[in-house]
Parts: sequence; C-alpha cells; structure tokens
Amino acid sequence: MWWKLAKKLFIKTYGCQMNVYDSTRMSDVLAPLGYAPTDQPDGADMIILNTCHIREKASEKVFSELGRLKQMKLEKAADGGRMILAVAGCVAQAEGDEILRRAPQVDLVFGPQTYHRLPELVSRTLRAEGSGGVLDIDFPLESKFDSLPEESVIQGASAFLSIQEGCDKFCTFCVVPYTRGAEFSRPAADIRAEARRLVAGGAREITLLGQNVNAYHGEAPSGVHAPTLPAAGSKGVWGLGRLLRYLAEIEGLERLRYTTSHPRDMDDELIAVHGDEPKVMPYLHLPVQSGADRILESMNRRHTADDYRRIVDRLRSVSPDIALSSDFIVGFPGERDEDFAETLRLVTDIGYAQAYSFKYSPRPGTPAAAIELQVEEAVKSDRLETLQNLLGAQQLAFNQTSVGQILPVLLEKAGRHAPQLSGRSPFMQSVFVEANPRLLGEVVAVRIGKAYARSLEGTVVTGSYSGLPAAAESAGKRAMSQVSGGPVMGTAV
Ligand code: SAM
Ligand code: SF4
Repeated sequence: MWWKLAKKLFIKTYGCQMNVYDSTRMSDVLAPLGYAPTDQPDGADMIILNTCHIREKASEKVFSELGRLKQMKLEKAADGGRMILAVAGCVAQAEGDEILRRAPQVDLVFGPQTYHRLPELVSRTLRAEGSGGVLDIDFPLESKFDSLPEESVIQGASAFLSIQEGCDKFCTFCVVPYTRGAEFSRPAADIRAEARRLVAGGAREITLLGQNVNAYHGEAPSGVHAPTLPAAGSKGVWGLGRLLRYLAEIEGLERLRYTTSHPRDMDDELIAVHGDEPKVMPYLHLPVQSGADRILESMNRRHTADDYRRIVDRLRSVSPDIALSSDFIVGFPGERDEDFAETLRLVTDIGYAQAYSFKYSPRPGTPAAAIELQVEEAVKSDRLETLQNLLGAQQLAFNQTSVGQILPVLLEKAGRHAPQLSGRSPFMQSVFVEANPRLLGEVVAVRIGKAYARSLEGTVVTGSYSGLPAAAESAGKRAMSQVSGGPVMGTAV
C-alpha cells in the first residue's frame, strides 16, 4: 500500500560487515512502520548513522557527519517536514550521553543490542520532540535475534548472516567486549532457517559473521544426528566447523565464508572443513595483529607467533592453496624496532593474499590506552608504510599468479562502467568482466587476463576450461564444480 511506503529511511553504515548486516536488519524492523530504504539522505524522514568505534578516526567521522546532517534536518523542518536523526552502533553504545550533549540535533541513540526495539524507540522519539533525545544502550537479557522479523531486505547474490556476537577475549587494545558485550551464539536451527530464506531470496554465497566468529558454540538442532562427525564441545553444542557442514547441505547455496576469526579458536573440526567441504571457500581472514611474542602477550592475544605459524601449516596441509588474510596493528604501546621486524618476518613467512593494517589507536577505557610507553605518531606512520608496502607487494604477487587461470567468479554487481560486472573469485579477489547483466547472481568461469594491486580483470569463458596451476588445483577443481550450468567442457585438470 503506497501510504505504508511513504517514509524514506537512509542508513549510513560505518565499519565492519557486522554493521552492514545490522543495517539491513534495522530496515527490516522499520519496514512495518512504513519506512522504505533510500540510498540518498536528501529528504529522508529518518537517518540512522550506524557507527564504528574501533579506532578514534572512525568515531570522529560520525561527529563531523552529524554537523552536516543538522543543516539537512533544519531544511526539512523549514519545509514543514520532520526528520528523525538517530545514531546507532558502537559509538552510540560507548558515547551515548556524550552524543546527545555534543549534538543536540540527534533525536535517538541506540546500541547494537537494542535495535529490535526500534518501533517503540521511534514512537518515544516522536512523543519526545523538543524534550531531549531518547537513549537506549542497554544490554537486554532477551536476544534481539528472537525479536527480529523475517528479512524483507534482499541482500543479493552474496549475503551476510550474523551467527555470533560479542567477545570474551578482551584483547587489551579493543573496545568490542565493551560495546558489543559478552559472547553469544545463535542456535544452529535459527541460522539455517535464515540461510534458507537468504538463498530463496537469491543468495548464492553466505558469509557468516561474528566479532569472534570461530568462537561459535551454538545450540545444536534437535533430532539431527551426524554419526560420522564429531560434535564440537559439550553435547548439544556445535562449533563453527559442524555448523558449516550443516549449512553446506542447503540446496542452491554455493559458497560459504566466515569472518572474523581468532587464531585460538581454529579447532581441528574447523580446519578439517577447509579440506573436504567444497562449499567452504579457500580463503580465510585470520588476524594475527603482530609477529612479536612480547607484543602479542601485552595485547592479551593468548598465542605466540609460532602458534600462528603452526595453525597456518595445518590449514595448508588440508587446503594447500588457501588464500590468507590478516589484520595488523603497528605502534602498539611498547613496540620496539625489533618487535616490528618480527612482524615483517612473520608476514614474509606466511605470504598473505591480502591484509588490513592500522596504526594503534588508543581507545578510552581499554587497558592498552593506559600503558605509558605509547609509540610516537611519526614512528607509527613509518612502520605502517613499510608494512603496507610489503603486504601490497604480496597481494600483487598473489593476484599475478591468477593471470592465465580460469576461475569461478560469482558476479555480484554492476561495475563502475557498463557493461562491466564485478564479482569475487573463490580466493576473495575482486574480479571485473564485461558481461551481460543477466549473468548477475551466477557463478561463471572467467579467464583472468590482468592483475592489479587490488583486483583482477578477465573475460567470461564459455565452453573451455584449461585448468589451474598446481597450487590452485584442488580449490579450482572444487570451486569449478559450482560454475553455473555444471562443469565447463574442455581440457579439465
Ligand atoms: N575479532 C578480531 C580478532 O580477534 O582479530 C578483530 C575484530 S576488530 C573489530 C577488527 C580489527 O580492528 C582488529 O583485528 C584490529 O586489527 C583492529 N583494531 C581493533 N582495535 C584497534 C585499535 N585500538 N587500534 C588500531 N586497530 C585496532
Ligand atoms: Fe576485539 Fe577480536 Fe580481541 Fe575480541 S578477539 S577483543 S573482537 S580483537
């Protein structure tokens, strides 16, 4: 009904994929109230900034955006309209009162665990006009997942699904345990039901999300027996490896990924899944943060650099071609030149397909922020540049090994210039091709012609498949079985 869709909702998402997922779920919650998503803030009836607090820069961006939106809100009011301006996510959780004090144009502040209450919060906001903003940054006893409606926003060929939230690890640099709260895993049956709906809505690939996703320990579905598979942890509780096998049974679902993982939680079953479940893609984001044991200890990471090397060895023993990615922090308090050299050594030993690296950013309330030996900004910048040069060279080298290969690519969206489409290889590389838009949402065979620092370019191949170099062979074989229309004919590996 047209009047039900009359209100425009604009959500700006900062930070991680969990925030992207949360934003789609906020849209789902607001749909019954008549809010329909729009991709422009102009004229919106409600604007939500779904924020990230992980580094200082991320939260400062929010305050400057709020300054810009104040003008837009005033213009809407001058036209006789009303805009609700809301701040959600981890900045909201950490700085709720401060936001309402510094930015009185904000009507509503709510945290990552309370967005299922949006209908009530919106109605309180409308009633509270002029009497200060509404704040809800509780950690409710009830799980929001039990109250969220079924998804109404179509995510497309590649979809996110949140399976785990919060974190109990308390790395000394990190705000997540404070902003997202204690670790919580959703029951496996609920996850499978959501995955099925995503597939029915066109998803071919699902990325399972969690702040510490491989710490997943969810309730097993009742009545499911899998005598050949050991159950992780205690009876009735499944680990991530078992959950991946369960989801891999869903017909029409071609690819599974998960992020972000902690090295300590790479258990045997999860490692085994990388070797024998073709739907689990040969790519893993496994942050190590530093290569120096004394820094890892000061970070409270609870593993050494050699523990990490051993985990990678085990992964490569079951999946030799697996592409690895990591996060790094440079300039953690007390980091000396020789510690940084250890990080470079680890990067050289491992050989990453891609990675993210950041300067350490002190976060209020975290233990590392109180360490006296903070590293100078100029030293952090130098180290970051050195590390990024090394990681960039590794990424380019990895991408260059793809040239001449035929890779299965899930085409996800239109590229910047028509008729270009973009998608992902099994190894998470961005791939651009010129192709008919009707191929969107399909896994197609692409011959890679060019490699760049952050992407690949290729052409869609019909009717031939020349095989992959030995290193990529097993994943290629597994992955090619998912190309639309069945195996591609020709000189197969
Ligand atoms: N759970 C993941 C793990 O254990 O590695 C990390 C999730 S965290 C949301 C994403 C990344 O942000 C971290 O891996 C870390 O590299 C970076 N990060 C977190 N806190 C930071 C800080 N205070 N300064 C700089 N980078 C930080
Ligand atoms: Fe933060 Fe990840 Fe450490 Fe948890 S495991 S505290 S999310 S860095």
